[in-house]
Amino acid sequence: MNDFITVIGGGLAGSEAAYQIAKRGIKVKLYEMKPHKFSPAHSNENLAEIVCSNSFKSNLPTNACGLLKEELRILDSLLIKTADQTSIPAGQALAVDREQFSQKVTDELQKNPNIEIINKEFGTDDLHIKKIAEQGIVIIATGPLTSDILAKEIGELTGNKELHFYDAAAPIVEKDSIDMNIAFWGDRYEQERAKNEDIDEWRERIQGLNEADYLNLPMNKEEYEDFVNELVKAEVVELHEFEKREIFEGCMPIEVMAKRGIDTLRFGPLKPVGFTDPRTGYRPYAVVQLRQDNKEGTIYNLVGFQTNLKFGEQKRVFSLIPGLQNADFTKYGVMHRNTYINSPKLLDETYNFRNESNIFFAGQITGVEGYVESISSGLVAGINACLRYENAINKSNIKSNTENEDIENKKIFDDKTMIGALAKYISTENDKFQPMNANFGILPNLAEKEKDKKARYYKLYERAIEIIKKL
Ligand SMILES: Cc1cc2nc3c(=O)[nH]c(=O)nc-3n(C[C@H](O)[C@H](O)[C@H](O)COP(=O)(O)OP(=O)(O)OC[C@H]3O[C@@H](n4cnc5c(N)ncnc54)[C@H](O)[C@@H]3O)c2cc1C
Repeated sequence: MNDFITVIGGGLAGSEAAYQIAKRGIKVKLYEMKPHKFSPAHSNENLAEIVCSNSFKSNLPTNACGLLKEELRILDSLLIKTADQTSIPAGQALAVDREQFSQKVTDELQKNPNIEIINKEFGTDDLHIKKIAEQGIVIIATGPLTSDILAKEIGELTGNKELHFYDAAAPIVEKDSIDMNIAFWGDRYEQERAKNEDIDEWRERIQGLNEADYLNLPMNKEEYEDFVNELVKAEVVELHEFEKREIFEGCMPIEVMAKRGIDTLRFGPLKPVGFTDPRTGYRPYAVVQLRQDNKEGTIYNLVGFQTNLKFGEQKRVFSLIPGLQNADFTKYGVMHRNTYINSPKLLDETYNFRNESNIFFAGQITGVEGYVESISSGLVAGINACLRYENAINKSNIKSNTENEDIENKKIFDDKTMIGALAKYISTENDKFQPMNANFGILPNLAEKEKDKKARYYKLYERAIEIIKKL
């Protein structure tokens, strides 16, 4: 058994994981392919490079990412500490000087006697995941732009159909913010079967369908046309050159579909066939369907609404849909290059690979989305890799299969914390898994309902911080 832990990828997650391991007195070999090879989005030679916006989002307690950062501060995250130290004025947001941030993280890791930084592309020569996992513990944190040669190995390890290269996600809204005077439950077939029933009986029955997977938002002609007219005019995100080539191959953004003609959406994802609006007793002109997105049923995604619209435009245009006028968007739709695995099937709540317990994943490749979320997963994977290492040393007989797993030697974060909720989200069964960022919708509800949104978020914040402080 190796007397070190291997971390592959010196980005946000890998750097945090390496720090967490080293500070627990365990040696780390951190492999980073730069400067020999750069992904299409990386250009700086340092570790922990910020590839796009220099913002780590809001610091407010009533913001989900604000909560996540505060949890990470309490748990001594190197990267959040460094972000605080290299911050530049940005109102309530934590924005960093990107050069200083990466330089400072690199300096910290370089001077740490427990960390050896090796600038080589993993997957080349004799550097292979399976081989290293036979001899010791490894964390794979190679990010959304994992090099091709390693992506191939990861595909072989996980099963190729469990590895994705593009993210085409629809927006997600909090259920509590949907206007339930307009929305109605049920799926298309349910409605088809019911269409010959007496309308009053049917109305009564449909009220009882509140456990159904779909919520439906009916539109009349005027509402539909207003929506489509705004959708086709809305501003979209400029894609990177490397993304333009392939991104639309399998999945057309809703705004592109809408531009094909005023009725295209009504004959596509907004098809009203088989539905009757309980308010009118008639088939609506169009229907937007929302599908349950988490086990708790607190968040719903807009079916078929994968989009490239700017976030502000998504809020403006999708709020025109009747029932979503006051919607809280947990996550906006995105379409971009993103290498990620089907974590619900492959990982547990400690980011440990279910099929091979010497292997952990961390960062965006696990389906957490965003800088701070990647750091959070690096911290959890790092801590748990240490526990596995110590456990193995104690037994002096490491065996790399799940039967030998010792649950007591895992650090599972409470799902009432944002760190724990993210870990739970990515590891919980979900046949339509899409990457997820920090948001209050993935936390379990408060024991007592709080109607005021700000007050609810603040209580969720306090509840989470109290748990983290006790760790
Ligand atoms: C173009 C783009 C823009 C983004 N913009 C934002 C944004 O504005 N805000 C936000 O919150 N999130 C953004 N993200 C999402 C995400 O938060 C970041 O990508 C984040 O850096 C992910 O952290 P990570 O540690 O998982 O991966 P990375 O930070 O990308 O780190 C992975 C590291 O692994 C290295 N590597 C890859 N393959 C190998 C290999 N075979 N051997 C050794 N090393 C290897 C890479 O060089 C890299 O240094 C963006 C993602 C992309 C792709």
